Parts: sequence; structure tokens; C-alpha cells
Amino acid sequence: MILANNIHKRFGDLEVLKGVSLDVSEGEIVSIVGASGAGKTTLLQILSSLEKSTDPQTYFTQILIKREDITQMSDAKLSKFRNENIGFIFQSHQLLPEFSAIENVCIPGFIGKTKPNLVQNKAKELLEFLGLGNRLEHKPSQLSGGEQQRVAVARALINQPAVIFADEPSGNLDSKNAEELHQLFFRLREEFGQTFVIVTHNEELADMADRKLVMADGKFEI
Ligand code: ATP
Repeated sequence: MILANNIHKRFGDLEVLKGVSLDVSEGEIVSIVGASGAGKTTLLQILSSLEKSTDPQTYFTQILIKREDITQMSDAKLSKFRNENIGFIFQSHQLLPEFSAIENVCIPGFIGKTKPNLVQNKAKELLEFLGLGNRLEHKPSQLSGGEQQRVAVARALINQPAVIFADEPSGNLDSKNAEELHQLFFRLREEFGQTFVIVTHNEELADMADRKLVMADGKFEI
């Protein structure tokens, strides 16, 4: 599902990634751990193409997602591909404060789609699945931290992406909400077959994954 070869990344003199390769199967949940500053977020941003592949300080041979090389795509194609195939969950949910829960979930679904009703139905279904059926019209400020993060998960899922990248998804949650979110990832995999790559400092989550990769000194430890 994801195949990346020999990723290098520098920030000026700082060589953050020194030849990272990754092969993730369909439906696999992979966690990435490592000391602060090890380059985990940088790697996730490159894999998810949030970091531009044209940056001269970034070098890789290829990054395949669903057998398509995202490094070779035009900006327009990449943007469409990302919207349809990649979901991203951040530590801070980054919901739009002026929109309700269901509107936040719908927004990525509306891009490039001609049937807003279908998107709304899907958003409602997802929020219900995530236990937020009675919070559809609430604004983010009217939701708890755990609820906000579940809305962000629903937003990441609205286009049924094959791959979800999550960067410290439970970093801002208390242990009960974190535990619920972690269980949710596994339920989603059961239900929708998604592939997850999760950067985390949470040991429980890291150990629950099918595979735990440790980053140190710009590479994965073997
Ligand atoms: P953490 O666990 O603390 O989130 P991380 O492993 O995710 O850390 P990164 O955020 O990938 O680490 O950062 C790796 C290194 O690259 C750090 O030393 C960081 O200071 C540096 N870095 C990240 N982004 C930039 C940037 N835009 N410009 C310069 N240096 C950067």
C-alpha cells in the first residue's frame, strides 16, 4: 500500500532523514516512535506529500501509494490524489471553529464532488459510528477534546482514503480518551480496511500496532 525508498531530508546543515525506507501492507497498522527531533513528523509529511517533493533539500527515489508514485505527480493530480486517498490526523485537531461538527467533516468531501447530499449522509453515518450522532450541529468549542479529535477522525475518513497518516493523534487527550481513540483505529481497520501509519509517543498505542518502527539518527533501527 505504501512503498518508500531511500528518503533523505536536510534542513540546511541538519540532515534529518538519512535514507529511510518503508513498506506498509494494505490494512496494516504501523507505529513510528523515537526521540523528540528524530524526524518522525518530517517523514510523515513527506510520505503524505504535505512536504513538497520539489524541495531541493528533499531527496528520494520513489514514494508509491497504491502503486502510484506521488513524487511524479503534477500539483493538480497530487492534490486530487491526496484528497481521495490520504487522510491526515494531527495532534491538534485543526477543526474550523466557525463550522459545526458535520460541516467540518463534509468540507473535504465536497471537493470535486457533485452530490453534496451523499457527502452529508456519509458524514452523518461516520459521526454516528464514532458515537457523535447527538453532536452533529455542535461547534468545536462546544465539544470536549476527545469529541473534537473524533470529529477530526471522521473528517480524515470522509473520502474513504486507503491510507491514514496520524501525527501524535492522542497527544492532547487524557488517558481515557486516548485509549478510546486507539481502540477506534482498530475498529476502523476492521470496518473499512484502512492502512494506518501513526507517529506517537504513547507506548500503549505504539505497542498495539502490528509493527513498531523506531527512528533514531535519521533512520529506522533494525
Ligand atoms: P517530536 O517527537 O518532538 O515531534 P520529530 O521526531 O517529529 O519530533 P521533526 O519534527 O521531524 O521531529 O523534526 C526533526 C528535526 O528537524 C528537528 O531537529 C527539528 O528542529 C528540525 N526541523 C523540523 N522542521 C524544520 C524546519 N521547517 N526548518 C528547520 N528545521 C526543522
